[in-house]
Amino acid sequence: ARRNGEEHLRLLGRAGVFRLEPHAWPAQQGGILLPDSGVVAPDQVTIACADNAVQNGARIFLNTAVIGLDVEGGRITGVRTNRGRLRGRVVINAAGVWADRVAELADDRFYTIHPRKGVMAITDRSTGDLQRRSLGMMWIRRPGRTKGGGVSRTIEGNLLLGPTADEVPDREDHGTSCEELEALLHRHMPLNAQLRPDQIIAYFAGVRAVTFEEDFVVEESRRVANLIHVAGIQSPGLTAAPAIAEDVRDLVVAMLRREVQVRARPEFDPCRKSPPSLSGLTLEERHRLILRNPAYGRIVCRCEEVSEGEVVAAIGSPLPATTVSAVKHRTRTGMGRCQGGFCTPSVLKLIAREMAVPATRVTWQGGDSLMLAGETGE
Ligand SMILES: Cc1cc2nc3c(=O)[nH]c(=O)nc-3n(C[C@H](O)[C@H](O)[C@H](O)COP(=O)(O)OP(=O)(O)OC[C@H]3O[C@@H](n4cnc5c(N)ncnc54)[C@H](O)[C@@H]3O)c2cc1C
Repeated sequence: ARRNGEEHLRLLGRAGVFRLEPHAWPAQQGGILLPDSGVVAPDQVTIACADNAVQNGARIFLNTAVIGLDVEGGRITGVRTNRGRLRGRVVINAAGVWADRVAELADDRFYTIHPRKGVMAITDRSTGDLQRRSLGMMWIRRPGRTKGGGVSRTIEGNLLLGPTADEVPDREDHGTSCEELEALLHRHMPLNAQLRPDQIIAYFAGVRAVTFEEDFVVEESRRVANLIHVAGIQSPGLTAAPAIAEDVRDLVVAMLRREVQVRARPEFDPCRKSPPSLSGLTLEERHRLILRNPAYGRIVCRCEEVSEGEVVAAIGSPLPATTVSAVKHRTRTGMGRCQGGFCTPSVLKLIAREMAVPATRVTWQGGDSLMLAGETGE
C-alpha cells in the first residue's frame, strides 16, 4: 500500500481495531488502517457523468448494440448497430466483457476476455450503525485473482458483503446459486460479529472482464487508425475510472490532432446540479421543498423514503430515466427491505403518466422486458 502512495497507512493492535470498529471479528489480533480509502455510489457517479455529458451536447443511445464495424482503408467508416449505422471520427471500444468480440469486428482482437464472476449480498440500512469503515480480509491467505472482498458500508448505510471471484464460462452469468451464497456468507459474515443472515435483503452477481495478462488495455489499435480500446477493466476499474478517462481523453485528442484542429470548448460546463433527495434533507428543508412542489410530499417508496417529486425529476432528467430499473438506480425506489414489492406499481404508473404511454408499454430495462402482460377486464 505504501508503494502505491498510501502515505497515511497505520498498523493497529487488537485494541486499536476494536476502538475503531467494536463489532470486528472477535478473534482479530490486529489490522492495517487505510484512512485515505473511500466508498462511492457507482450508479450515482455514472448517472451524474452521463447527465453532465448530455447537458454539454453529448448524445447517448441506450438499448443500442454494436453488431458490426465497417473498416475501409485501415479505419472504421461506420458502426453498425441494431438501430442503424453510426459514424464518428474516433471509435472507443469500452464493451466490458464483450470488448474482445467488438475488437474482432474490426479484425483487431489482440486480447481475450475471461469472465470472472463476483457474487455480493447487501443488508438493509438498519445495519448501517454496525460498522463505519470497510473491513477487509487480511486474515485469509487470499487467492491471487481477487483483492479479497470484505464488508463495506455503502454511502446510504447498507452493508455490502463480498464479492466472491470465480471463473465462469458465461459472460452474462448474473445468477446466484445456493453454493455461491453459502461460500459468500461463510467467508464474509464473520468480519462483523453483529451481522445476521436475516439482515440481508438481496443477493446479486456481476462479471468482471479479465484479460489473460490480468491488466487493463487502454491503448490505440495497432491496425485500425481511429479505434481505441478500453478493455479488461476489471476491479478496481471503478476506482481507476477517473484516471482511465484522462488517459482516454489524451489518446482521443492525439488521434484527432492528426487530422483536425482540436481545442477546448470554453462553454463546457463541468457542473451538474443533482436533484433533491428527500431522505437526505432536514425536516425544515423537506417542509420548504414540499411547499414549493407538493409532489415531494407524496411518498412512493416507504423503505427508502423516495417521493413522487424525485421519481418525476428522474424521468425528466437530461438523460431521462424511462424504465423501472432506471428510476430505481436514480432514486433508490425498490432498493429497500421490500425490494420494490410496494412501490413498483406506483413507479410504473408515474412513468406511464409522465411519458404519456399506456402502463402496458412500461419496461423493466428496455427492449422486451415489459412489466405487465396485459390489461385484465374491467
Ligand atoms: C462483483 C464486482 C465487484 C466489483 N467491485 C469493485 C470495487 O469495489 N471497486 C472497483 O473499483 N471496481 C469494482 N469492480 C469492477 C468495476 O465494476 C468494473 O471495473 C467496471 O464496471 C468496468 O467498467 P466498464 O465500463 O469497462 O465495463 P462495463 O461497466 O461492463 O460496461 C460495458 C458496457 O458495454 C456494453 N456493451 C457490451 N457489448 C456491447 C455491444 N456490442 N454494443 C453496445 N454496447 C455493448 C454493456 O452493455 C455495458 O453497458 C467490481 C466488479 C464486479 C463484477
